[in-house]
Amino acid sequence: MSGKLTLVPTPIGNLGDITLRAIETLKSVDTVLAEDTRTSGVLLRHYSIETPLRAYHAHNEHASTEYWISQLQNGAQLALISDAGTPGISDPGFLLLRECIAAGISTEVLPGPVAFIPALLQSGLPNHHFVFLGFLPVKKGRQTLLTSLQDETRSMIFYESPHKINKTLKDFMQHFGPERQASVSRELTKKFEETIRGSLAQIAQKENWKGEIVMVVAGKDTE
Ligand code: SAM
Repeated sequence: MSGKLTLVPTPIGNLGDITLRAIETLKSVDTVLAEDTRTSGVLLRHYSIETPLRAYHAHNEHASTEYWISQLQNGAQLALISDAGTPGISDPGFLLLRECIAAGISTEVLPGPVAFIPALLQSGLPNHHFVFLGFLPVKKGRQTLLTSLQDETRSMIFYESPHKINKTLKDFMQHFGPERQASVSRELTKKFEETIRGSLAQIAQKENWKGEIVMVVAGKDTE
């Protein structure tokens, strides 16, 4: 049998958000590669999945990709998961997927949970065209990127941490103006899920941010 890599999305908070196909795949492969074996161990136990787990994270991604490519070339059936959501989206996975494609190894990506889609829809901002920017650079390249986004007309989606959101809101006000419409979705799919909508200035009035956060900022109005 020829080897195959399957990227399997996992819940972003609510354990119920896993597909039947994701469970079947995780049960049937030889090995599950996980960003954090302890975090993913909880999920696998919850669904009585006994497949061996191996670490595949940002720190060993480059070094171990070669090894896993050779396993796939020898016929291994591998699933790759991250701590939450879709692997490869602001998470490890892209490198191995790209190497598989380059080596002619069969790949599959299951559809499933990802944080930015519910956040975009909950924002109420235009979603027919949008741009996903992931985490902003903390220092190098941050101002250049924000400046390049000043004329962006599509809704812009960012991942952010609660410790950095106040600074990011200030930077957004400086580059996009305080009246620009935006939203912040916190703790999606979890007990304390909420979405705050309004101008950047209104949203910036909140001080104590907690939990996992997706920010959506309206594009520049061209009318
Ligand atoms: N692979 C994930 C995905 O498919 O969305 C993203 C992983 S990235 C390391 C983690 C970031 O995703 C968080 O800092 C936050 O910005 C966002 N995120 C993940 N889960 C979330 C949730 N339940 N609610 C809001 N944002 C979430």
